[in-house]
Amino acid sequence: RGGEREALACCYPRSCHRLPLQKCWLPGTQCIAKHDHTKPKAHELAFRKGDIVTIVEVCEQKGWYRAKHNDTGEEGLLSASLVRERGAIRVDPKLSLMPWFHGKISGVEAVQALQPPEDGLFLVRESIRHPGDYVLCVSFGREVIHYRVVYQENRLSIDASVSFYNLIDMIEHYMQDQGAICTKLGKPKPKPGMKSAEEELAKAGWLLNLQHLTLGDKIGEGEFGAVLQGEYMGQKVAVKNIKCDVTAQAFLAETAAMTKVRHRNLVQLLGVILHNGLYIIMEFMSKGNLVNFLRTRGRLALQAKQLIQFSLDIAQGMDYLESKKLVHRDLAARNILISEENVAKVSDFGLVKVDLKGSDATKLPVKWTAPEALKHNKFSTKSDVWSYGILLWEVFSYGRAPYSKMTLKEVTEMVEKGYRMEAPEECPSSLYTLMKSCWELEPGKRPSFKKLMEKLQKELKHLGNS
Ligand code: ADP
Ligand code: MG
Repeated sequence: RGGEREALACCYPRSCHRLPLQKCWLPGTQCIAKHDHTKPKAHELAFRKGDIVTIVEVCEQKGWYRAKHNDTGEEGLLSASLVRERGAIRVDPKLSLMPWFHGKISGVEAVQALQPPEDGLFLVRESIRHPGDYVLCVSFGREVIHYRVVYQENRLSIDASVSFYNLIDMIEHYMQDQGAICTKLGKPKPKPGMKSAEEELAKAGWLLNLQHLTLGDKIGEGEFGAVLQGEYMGQKVAVKNIKCDVTAQAFLAETAAMTKVRHRNLVQLLGVILHNGLYIIMEFMSKGNLVNFLRTRGRLALQAKQLIQFSLDIAQGMDYLESKKLVHRDLAARNILISEENVAKVSDFGLVKVDLKGSDATKLPVKWTAPEALKHNKFSTKSDVWSYGILLWEVFSYGRAPYSKMTLKEVTEMVEKGYRMEAPEECPSSLYTLMKSCWELEPGKRPSFKKLMEKLQKELKHLGNS
């Protein structure tokens, strides 16, 4: 169990030490092919432009890696010059899952937008005369044809024979099947200033292929729908499906934050699929969330050492998030997941809650949120540290609910006045001290995640020696 820094030191080959300026990709790095490489020499990996490969190992020879093709599963040698590292998606309000949605514009404006004519060029607008109704406008021949989209019983349809949950599904359908309209939909006409999320995701290498995904049992229930187990190219995955197009759009922000991070203690995003709204594909965490894990095993099965190790895992993940300038805002045991190997990982980060305004305070997890964040909407890494303190309390009480006998209003008022939870039963006093340090009213007085890591490492050593 090494931190990321240790891992870095041991897997860099010697050649990389001699070439400090040369960037070296660590195993696990995802790369996108810049060119076709369909006639590989012996032992080399074959791929096409745009394919994604995973670095398996750094070779002795400079600029060469052993890599695995994400689609075919084949392994082989790879020259770094043929690929580039998979990039991050910027959280950009202009990034849209529906770039072809132009909002309220008139039929005349739609016709103008679809110039010059090109068969299949299309957009969707909201009807001015019938607010709430949509119109699909398609360029065909020299004309633009307007199809009214009827909204009935929660479904959208143009032609009574097929109906859809949302516009994204409708467009996806008519891009593949002409059905009752004049022509198969071709190129979308983006609203001025809007960028297609699909294109950006594909360019950055985060778009996965629906054909490779098999869905399985439901493993959890999230705020926005079920979480399913699945398999992608032989790898076990967890899948969140967000069907509503408005929510899917909001989730793009979470996804964008997840494309920036890669750490052993953060649940890894594998990619997304734009189908049925949005599928978010994540690494599968077989032992579920930390609250259930602690409650079902309890005091007899879990020793302090394991609890401290979980706490350390989480602090490491949070320290990394801080280095990426991301604030979690919803750090709590329910958002920690446990892997098959008992590694604790932070999930649900960079949430939709990113642009939570004060007015939305009703949605805040009050019992986990720092006073300055509740009162003045001041979220920071230091407010995450407060939440981490509550999380420590949950861990050492084996998954009990914090402040269980108090209402939200009581918690807010009492905490402001200096009230703090008591130590969980049989909690080591050093850990209770640590929790309380996270609950300093003044954010600056709370420890950093680095400091918390150091203290927990010391505790572990202590246990090891005794
Ligand atoms: P929400 O975003 O609504 O909070 P979560 O992401 O917390 O939803 O997921 C809800 C539940 O689904 C979790 O508590 C967990 O039990 C399960 N779950 C979520 N992601 C995974 C995953 N990657 N692997 C295994 N189980 C998961
Ligand atoms: Mg959650």
